[in-house]
Amino acid sequence: MDAEITIIGAGVIGLAIAEKVSEENKNVYLMEKHLAFGQETSSRNSEVIHAGIYYTKDSLKAKLCIEGKRLLYDYCRKFDVPFNNCGKLIVATTEEEIKVIEGIRQTAIKNGVDDLKVLEREQISDLEPNIFALKALFSPSTGIVDSHSLMKQFETNSVNNGCQIAYGSEVTEISRIKNGYKITILDADKKLYSFTTRIVINSAGLTSDKVSEMVGVNDKNLEILFCKGEYFRIIPPKNRLITRLVYPVPHPNMEGIGIHVTIDMGGGVKLGPDVKYLESNIYDYKLTVSKQEAFYRSAKKFLPFLEFDDIAPEMAGIRPKIQKPGELLKDFYIMEETGRGYPGFINLIGMESPGLTSSIAIAEYVADLIPSASEGSLFPI
Ligand SMILES: Cc1cc2nc3c(=O)[nH]c(=O)nc-3n(C[C@H](O)[C@H](O)[C@H](O)COP(=O)(O)OP(=O)(O)OC[C@H]3O[C@@H](n4cnc5c(N)ncnc54)[C@H](O)[C@@H]3O)c2cc1C
Repeated sequence: MDAEITIIGAGVIGLAIAEKVSEENKNVYLMEKHLAFGQETSSRNSEVIHAGIYYTKDSLKAKLCIEGKRLLYDYCRKFDVPFNNCGKLIVATTEEEIKVIEGIRQTAIKNGVDDLKVLEREQISDLEPNIFALKALFSPSTGIVDSHSLMKQFETNSVNNGCQIAYGSEVTEISRIKNGYKITILDADKKLYSFTTRIVINSAGLTSDKVSEMVGVNDKNLEILFCKGEYFRIIPPKNRLITRLVYPVPHPNMEGIGIHVTIDMGGGVKLGPDVKYLESNIYDYKLTVSKQEAFYRSAKKFLPFLEFDDIAPEMAGIRPKIQKPGELLKDFYIMEETGRGYPGFINLIGMESPGLTSSIAIAEYVADLIPSASEGSLFPI
């Protein structure tokens, strides 16, 4: 085999996996269609280190988020990746929402997040004097991270471990061969070449379902729907009126967690993202100026100081959803596909939020799924 392990996709998850698996394997390839890492979802998100509050008990999202949060804070300290453990307030602005808050706290406790505190009005204004809330939950372990620096560190450590990263290399075909896979690449000069690998790790984000189909896994449940989220920013000087993350009480099926306020490492303050399933899977990052009114109204409920002209369109990201509109929350799909006849082929599909927070825990989980070379030879074609 040319490679022992080939990872497809240099987003935050593919890069975290590359760093992890190249610690022990000396022959790791990482293939990325763009000319640099993190050109898609990993650089179009809120950069929040989530606490793991909302996810279904025992789901991968719950477990990997909580473990990932701990690993991510440790990693940032170790490698000087900029982060801020600023904490987050989930605010109730109506009597109805106050009732929901206790349910959120109970879900969090079931997931092992037992540090949430219920705050009354005076305590809220001690923390954030400029917001309006009747009651709030405070999550002290939530924070933010500079995702670009994080990815850069994963890349540096991977390369230092001996991982070979090929940018401008789009995987166009995958076929099963004896004890492994043949991968065909379209390179930046539009030339095709192929190589062989024992293990394939599909971390291709928005097109991970298509990469999975290349090998032969066709499963309607793994079909990705593009779900866009747009942001507006709060223009200076009012951005300085908020120092923590502030979220409204979430929608019951968690299609999104409501237009919220996130701060970033550069002092910027964003509102969003909203949630809109696109009619087809196109990379549509266009901003909708006409949404200003809706963003303003949502945020005004808990940011009384905000005026319509204090916000401006900022950016958009696209969630790779396997959850259809209206369905209940779906878990990450992370699977070694021996069961479908593809030993050594590991799929990561539907890696939406909290994928950034969970990235290092996901990498450890995936490393444990890799069959050893002797197991691999039990599955000749
Ligand atoms: C609006 C929004 C807000 C979010 N906020 C948060 C948050 O606050 N906290 C959090 O934890 N998570 C958040 N997330 C989720 C997080 O951003 C993702 O889980 C994470 O970035 C996914 O990383 P990835 O590596 O799987 O995907 P990507 O970043 O999409 O990387 C996949 C890579 O694969 C490459 N690729 C695809 N097909 C091929 C191919 N055939 N050949 C070669 N390369 C290929 C792509 O070019 C891409 O670079 C948010 C997501 C969105 C959309």
